Amino acid sequence: MKLMKLPMNFPGRFQTAAGSRIGVGAALLLLLVVMLAPATAQAPPAPREWSPAQVRAILDKTQTIRLAPSLAHLSPGERIAVTRLLEVGRIFQDVYEQQRHRAALTARAALSRRTDTQGRALYTLYRLNQGPIATTLENKREPALAVPDAPPGKNVYPWDLTKAELDAFLAAHPNERARLTDLRSVVRRAEMAVLKRDLAKLRQYPAIDALHPGLRARLQGLARRPNRATLYAAPYSLAYADEMVRSHGLLNEAADAVAGSDPQFARYLRNRARDLLSDDYESGDAAWLKGRFKNLNAQIGAYETYDDELLGTRAFYGLSLLATRTRESAELREAMKGIQALEDMLPYERRRRVMEDIPVGVYDVVADFGQTRGGNTATNLPNEAYLVERYGSIILLRANIMRNPDIFRGSGDIYGAAVVPNQAAHLTPDGNFYRTLWHEVGHYLGPDVTASGQALDVIGADANLLEELKADLVSLFVAKELRRRGYYSEDQLRSLYASGILRTLQNNKPRREQPYNMMQLMQWNWFLDRKVLAFDPSSAKLSIDYDRYHEAVRDLLKQVIAIQEAGDASVASAFVDRWGKWDEALHGKVAANIRAQQRYRFRLFEYAALSSSPS
Ligand SMILES: [Zn+2]
Repeated sequence: MKLMKLPMNFPGRFQTAAGSRIGVGAALLLLLVVMLAPATAQAPPAPREWSPAQVRAILDKTQTIRLAPSLAHLSPGERIAVTRLLEVGRIFQDVYEQQRHRAALTARAALSRRTDTQGRALYTLYRLNQGPIATTLENKREPALAVPDAPPGKNVYPWDLTKAELDAFLAAHPNERARLTDLRSVVRRAEMAVLKRDLAKLRQYPAIDALHPGLRARLQGLARRPNRATLYAAPYSLAYADEMVRSHGLLNEAADAVAGSDPQFARYLRNRARDLLSDDYESGDAAWLKGRFKNLNAQIGAYETYDDELLGTRAFYGLSLLATRTRESAELREAMKGIQALEDMLPYERRRRVMEDIPVGVYDVVADFGQTRGGNTATNLPNEAYLVERYGSIILLRANIMRNPDIFRGSGDIYGAAVVPNQAAHLTPDGNFYRTLWHEVGHYLGPDVTASGQALDVIGADANLLEELKADLVSLFVAKELRRRGYYSEDQLRSLYASGILRTLQNNKPRREQPYNMMQLMQWNWFLDRKVLAFDPSSAKLSIDYDRYHEAVRDLLKQVIAIQEAGDASVASAFVDRWGKWDEALHGKVAANIRAQQRYRFRLFEYAALSSSPS
């Protein structure tokens, strides 16, 4: 819920591989045909590999960014920890790709054996998309290899499961709802072969068995009456048992290596290792959020649910290994004091206490894996309200991405493509940095539960979108007060506002299921409606009225918070539909001008730390 993707919040409107949606309608139709039509009917056309020209069109628009922060200051123990954590990252990368497509790893293995030019290009395309389903220049998702399209629930649900079947099963089995919608379990059909596999893994790994009381008895009960119409939940530790047991061992080795020099980091790693086998992250999250670490930090595990487009409740695996910028982090924490007063200023009635001592830090990305891979500028975790309530949340700002000169290059051009010339220079790197920082703080402020005390997830598919929208708006809303306090200069405030406009601009019509892009488009439309932005059709440029900015932000923030507090999925959805409209004569023209400025559309990240150690 709280992970910022570079493409959405940064100059450059880049697409990332992860978190994008596939052609749901087509996939379901295909499945329907397969299920309903007997062998006599004509088979649907088998998916074909993209042509060299199709692959080339994407790779020509792909910028490769190599991250290579210095690790020279690390102690010998920390270096050992780095190698172990990178190994865990590789395991998570495989699990992530498996979670997103059942044929991912076999397709990848086949590609890695190919030596022809097309095979190598496809392998790069696979890496860019972290799987065989690729994003096109038209922002569509489709198989680039000869594999079936992925269903909305990807591979963490039965491949042929429809939303209707799942909903019907949940309605008929209310006692199973919690398990079947759990953050860290896969949904399976109670078929004999599947149950046998799961029971065998429980016997093979007594630790997983012991950490899931009642699970074995439940599976044995199902095995007495196997029925593919019966759905059950297998915890991730069981579904990916071999991988999680290996990761548990590696994390403990990493902990051993830093136990003397950074005992708090070591304790975090041991707790998280156990979490991977219990699927309950509370102990590791507490150690992560409350610990004070030295030179390293890491996000480890399954946190974000963007890839689950069936229910939006299942988390996908990722790992980020980060090297701390110690001095910058200390300075930043000092600057963050006094945020309770900002919370108290937000436009809603209920008041809550927020933690004054947010664990915010500035880091260099050593390597990202799985769900975390890409141009994320910052991370804010955990997402679960009860954990945030107890332990607060951690904010990890990724300096070597936010300040990467290759990534920054061209941002002025893109802004300039959309905004009138005499305002185009208002955007500076400062604006993007502060907007990103205060977006993350924004997740910390405002309601964390609905008015009736339920988790915000109750809003359903648009919960993420609203949370991101709120965070965006908070970053802009508090700016006026921060200027009053002297935190921002007048130029910085204007640059932040300019960055807020840049944030809204799109180079393509967003898909309804893209939470970031949709909420950006909503802000764009709101700013037009409130005359913060004026559009000149003859030049296709936007101009900004800064005097209207703060009030417009306040009013939209007020509505968004009210919808979060109401906790009603249909109200949320109608609000998104109302403000998420796309007008070809306006948005389309600006988008075309932006595209014309863009040398690249996609970014592929590479990590020096991975090429220098065996894979
Ligand atoms: Zn966010």
